[in-house]
Amino acid sequence: MIGRNQKTGPQTTAIHAGEGPDPTTGASAPALHMSSTFVVDEAAGFSAHDLDEESGFLYARWGNPTVAMLEKKIAAMEGTEACLCTASGMAAASAIFFTVLSSGDHAVVSDVSYAGVAELARETLPRMGIEVSFVDMSDPANVAEALRHNTKLVHCESPVNPICRLTDLATMSELAHDAGALVSCDATFASPLGQDCAELGIDLIMHSITKYIGGHGDAVGGAIAGNAELIDRLRAEAAIHHGGVLSPFNAWLIARGAATLPLRMRAHQEGAMAVAKWLENESSATKVIYPGLPSHPQYDLAQRQMVNTSGMISFQVGTAAKGQELANKMAQELQVVHHAVSLGHHRSLIFWMETAGLMDSSFELEGSQLDSYRDFAGDGVFRLSVGLEDAEDIIADLSKVL
Ligand SMILES: *Cc1c(COP(=O)(O)O)cnc(C)c1O
Repeated sequence: MIGRNQKTGPQTTAIHAGEGPDPTTGASAPALHMSSTFVVDEAAGFSAHDLDEESGFLYARWGNPTVAMLEKKIAAMEGTEACLCTASGMAAASAIFFTVLSSGDHAVVSDVSYAGVAELARETLPRMGIEVSFVDMSDPANVAEALRHNTKLVHCESPVNPICRLTDLATMSELAHDAGALVSCDATFASPLGQDCAELGIDLIMHSITKYIGGHGDAVGGAIAGNAELIDRLRAEAAIHHGGVLSPFNAWLIARGAATLPLRMRAHQEGAMAVAKWLENESSATKVIYPGLPSHPQYDLAQRQMVNTSGMISFQVGTAAKGQELANKMAQELQVVHHAVSLGHHRSLIFWMETAGLMDSSFELEGSQLDSYRDFAGDGVFRLSVGLEDAEDIIADLSKVL
């Protein structure tokens, strides 16, 4: 079995890490263990506090062999000691917030993020006595200014959903660590291949594995990668006590997807580059934001930080009314690209995200923060997840409506 300390290339790691031939049957593919409980041959404690390195499997909320296989694979791909898989990406975000933060603590959170994460931080954390500052993290000075003596967590997301704005992760890590805080990053848009979060100093690397890591749109899940001590704390709190564990069946499906992630990310990047260039030059898009294009407002940062610019593009078409009209047209006429939420699948997906609606429901930005959002998004964006179809077919499909 290939582990973290064995230096294999990213493709070999994605395929072999966490798994190996079954010692009893010789099966080459990993087994799907659906068992919720495990026969133990001596008395054992039944508390999250009894977990240690040597603990075997006892009950599937603590750990399950198929889920553990995926956790080892993701940890190896991220270059971290450990990983915890959760029932969804939102369960991973909750795991981070509710393990790291307590009443009286302060957190600095990106003022734009996945809408569910934004709403959790804005509505639920204050109810628990946790203060949150929402800042535009594209300028590190805003984060430096927001840090306080009781800041325990800086949570960023890069590239950020839905506008593909970037955050300088190395600088975030430095600022957070100097203030005695942990730094977490939702790296769902980038995937583990997009940027080396561990190398950039991120303590808790979060993914919705529903997206690129699973990659096929057939299983919901989440993951957090980090050092063993932190991941043990998250497992005791979020998995064993809050209970949001990943189903072994989903772990098995997602591990099968993860094995081809490096190959898929290369193809996603290639397809997205072709589609982004077409959008920029030959369609009715008025502004295209893709980290791989020199026109991205933070292209220098993208070049410095991102190894793979992924398959996520956002583009504008003019007024909100025009966007809404086009979205309706897409829903009726597109055949290759599915008009649907989610992202990172082999199938291309597109969805309209109107600025005014998102401000009301999730982000509530004003002044310079709203201006920064609008620099990237105008009255609204189409969030396009470029899939693995032939780029010419994606372009031909989109050109029917654009
Ligand atoms: C989808 C998504 C989430 C939430 O993940 P689920 O698996 O749907 O719970 C969190 N962050 C980002 C960036 C996402 O795209």
